[in-house]
Amino acid sequence: MSERWETVIGLEVHVELSTKSKIFCACSTEFGGRPNTHCCPVCMGLPGTLPVLNRKVLEYAVRAGLALHCDIDRETRFDRKNYFYPDLPKAYQISQLYRPIARNGYVDIGAKRIRIHEMHMEEDAGKLIHSEYEHETYPDYNRAGVPLLEIVSEPDFRDSAEVLAYLEKIRSLFTYLGISDCKMQEGSMRADVNLSVRRAGETALGTRTETKNINSLRAIEHAIESERSRQIHILSGGGAVVQETRHWNDDLKTSTAMRSKENAPDYRYFPEPDLPVIFIGEDFLQAARDSLPEFAEERQARFVEQYALPPKDAARLTVRRETAELFEAVVSRGAEARHVANWLIVHVPHVLKTLSENAEDIAPDPSELAELIRRTESGTVSRADGLRVLEALLSTDGPFRVSDYIRERGLSVNNDESALEEVIRRVIEANPKAVNEYRSGKTKAIGFLIGQAMKDLQGKATPATVRERMEAALET
Ligand SMILES: [Zn+2]
Repeated sequence: MSERWETVIGLEVHVELSTKSKIFCACSTEFGGRPNTHCCPVCMGLPGTLPVLNRKVLEYAVRAGLALHCDIDRETRFDRKNYFYPDLPKAYQISQLYRPIARNGYVDIGAKRIRIHEMHMEEDAGKLIHSEYEHETYPDYNRAGVPLLEIVSEPDFRDSAEVLAYLEKIRSLFTYLGISDCKMQEGSMRADVNLSVRRAGETALGTRTETKNINSLRAIEHAIESERSRQIHILSGGGAVVQETRHWNDDLKTSTAMRSKENAPDYRYFPEPDLPVIFIGEDFLQAARDSLPEFAEERQARFVEQYALPPKDAARLTVRRETAELFEAVVSRGAEARHVANWLIVHVPHVLKTLSENAEDIAPDPSELAELIRRTESGTVSRADGLRVLEALLSTDGPFRVSDYIRERGLSVNNDESALEEVIRRVIEANPKAVNEYRSGKTKAIGFLIGQAMKDLQGKATPATVRERMEAALET
């Protein structure tokens, strides 16, 4: 007998904020520095040091809370979460438990509303690098103290599609806010999946597990499917799911039990004595409200209205803030909106794929892109050449001039009428033999004449146009 099961998922999403310095000290937050070069006594937790809250973190957190429709706690404070692990030099993490900055929000994904239980500020831990060859581990504390927001949802998800839509939405909101780049591959956005299953129709929640270490949207999908099957298998066989933290191995597409899941009391939370309570004034809050940008949905509606784009195109152009801004910048430099939309939706992603580049790693000069689109769409550069120029534009770091590139490589097609007529007249005059052959029925001879004309034009006209004009001239 096959039973029907319902999956219940809640998410804890960690997002690294893109402030220049760490949350409690002046160290750089830059990703990828030499190990242990972005550290100081504060983020290393040396005795006698005191943390000072980075004001920018508070500002970003309040704006994020508003974007997630949360209530902002006007009297927020930090707590110590105590645990020992080598990536945490202080042996406690400064986090928020009792008075998180934001509560009771929501995110709409299509027609469904996902409730946000709370969002809090905290510091990231360091990273452990495990040697491949020896049983050695090297801590890198560059990441220790990088500011994080943790967003805790209610268990409102029922499948992986909803989870992915929610993560995309958070990424969209936060990149529009400019508070994080939300790159899962660099760890600036991470999701822990709390999952349980129950028989269809049951209302009580089953025992849940938490799966960690999931680094891409695809991996989240796999991890959810894998954990769902595992739990159904256990329960169908009469067993019980153990509440535990599981570690996802994306190469093997399986998870393994890491430790029994801690509850809050295990961490011995207490109010952080080294940081004062933060009172958020009305001015600060109003400034945050005023600073909220036009988010994707509003921008999508405006694009439909202002640029007469189909809603589907407008949606694709506005998911990422960078794409939306590039679109408007290119249009403002004189390229036609529907052409720019087509290039950004079709041609640019295609070329990026051949270059194995990510959209977030490119920032083409809008003036140059506008020039290229204008010239290709007006036919002065062939489409194939236009795409070649696009590839060069997207793969060049630093200045790139579309007009120079086209000129240097002779890619410009110059269907300039008077110049064309002049060249054809000269070629006909200079080659009476071929002209007579053509006129006496050896039509192949036109190939030679076209070749001569193309040589004269130095490739600055399309062969089809030259053929058309040459035929017309020979008929007269
Ligand atoms: Zn530091």
